[in-house]
Formats: sequence, C-alpha cells, structure tokens
Amino acid sequence: MVDHVIMRTAEIAAALAAVERRIDRACANAGRSRDEITLVAVTKTFPAADVRALAELGIVDVAENRDQEAAPKAAECADLPLRWHFVGRLQTNKARSVVSYADVVQSVDRHRLVTALSAAAGKAGRSVRCLVQVSLDESAGAGEAPAPGGDRRGGARPDEVPALADAIAAADGLELGGVMAVAPLGGDPVAAFDRLAGVAARLREHHPAARVVSAGMSTDLESAIECGATHVRVGTALLGGRAAIVR
Ligand SMILES: *Cc1c(COP(=O)(O)O)cnc(C)c1O
Repeated sequence: MVDHVIMRTAEIAAALAAVERRIDRACANAGRSRDEITLVAVTKTFPAADVRALAELGIVDVAENRDQEAAPKAAECADLPLRWHFVGRLQTNKARSVVSYADVVQSVDRHRLVTALSAAAGKAGRSVRCLVQVSLDESAGAGEAPAPGGDRRGGARPDEVPALADAIAAADGLELGGVMAVAPLGGDPVAAFDRLAGVAARLREHHPAARVVSAGMSTDLESAIECGATHVRVGTALLGGRAAIVR
C-alpha cells in the first residue's frame, strides 16, 4: 500500500478505537452490554477508500444519505462484506436505485415512500429492512415548511408512526426493523431520545420483532445509549469533519 493509504488507515483506526472506548464507557454507565449496540459508520462525503479502510478495521455497517453519492460508492465496494444503510431524505423516484444496494432504509417517513420501496424491492427480488424515521422536533410537525434558515430534518410525527409501521409490516419486500431519529438541533438530546424510546416501546407492543432504535451521532452517542439506542450512526468522530454539502 502507498504511504498515504497506510497513514489514513492508521488515522481511522485511532478514531475508531476512541469511538469504541466512548461506546464501552456509555454501555458501562447505562448497565448495558456492548453487543446490544451496532456502530454504523456514516461515510457520506468520504471516498470509497475510507469505506475500504473501515471494512478492514472490522466495520460491517455503513451509511450514506444521498443516492447520487451512495450508488457509485456501494458499487466500488461491492466486493466487501458490508451492510449499507440509507439515512437521508429519500425521493420516491430514487427508491429503485437505493433498493439496488441498501439493506436498510432508516429514513422512511411517509406512506408514498413505503409504496415506492415495496414496488422497487419486488422488482429487484430483494428484501429491505425499513425503519420509521421519527421527528423529535416538537415545534414543527412533519410536512410543515422549515422555519426561515431552519433545517427540517425529516421524519414522521410520533402520532403518525403506528400507521406507517403497519404499512411497512404489511408491504411485500419490506421488513419493519424499528425506528430512527436525529436529535433536534440545540435541544436536550436525552429528552429527545427518551421520547424516541417511548415511541419505540409503543411500536413493539404491536410489532415485537421491530427492536431497532437508531439514535445518536458523533456528539450525542452517549445520550442515545443511555436512552436505549441499539444503533449509533457516527460520521465525524470516525472520519473527520465534512466540507459543507449543499442539499
Ligand atoms: C451525517 C449523519 C450522521 C452522522 O453525523 P456525525 O455528526 O458526523 O456523526 C448520522 N445520521 C444521519 C441521518 C446523518 O445524516
């Protein structure tokens, strides 16, 4: 391997070790076992070479948020034993492409997307695990316009989750995995992740197998683990800062 590849792999290895220490400590503090948590590496804006380095270091779960970027990256990494998660806003006309590489779509937030993903999974002969993305922002309901300068992060309102979950569970080619959320900017992450835990518990009353709670990112993974997350999605703490992306 050329020197810069070796150096980049060493840099990622050190970052991964630090993230693993944070997860271990959070599990110990919460009285949970490390094997209850899946670390999902968010590789958006980073090259396929970084995905390859992560795979060499034992990472299995990787996530992307834009189809235009994810599709070629997944194709470049098709030889690796990876599970691809889609975590971004998803337009129905991209469902077919996303289903061609994604094993998990974490950002299902409306019925039209369930229909599109089910049709695409059927055509591809694939089974796709879906999580209902829940909006934890109490000030803005799903479907509302973002506040001026604000960033509506997507997600169904908590009261919309049961019907959406039922639709996923009933759809051909889709499997209901659980829920996902992003903590609102500037809020208390523990309060937000506690609300998500409540939504997840109510979901499990009707769908006991839907046990995934995907919550927590680089800055708040400890709060998420404290509140029962099964999956943390970590980008910056593993791969470094991202250049601003226009969405
Ligand atoms: C980018 C992204 C992450 C990772 O965020 P970091 O702060 O870089 O760890 C997690 N979840 C979603 C949905 C994302 O878009």
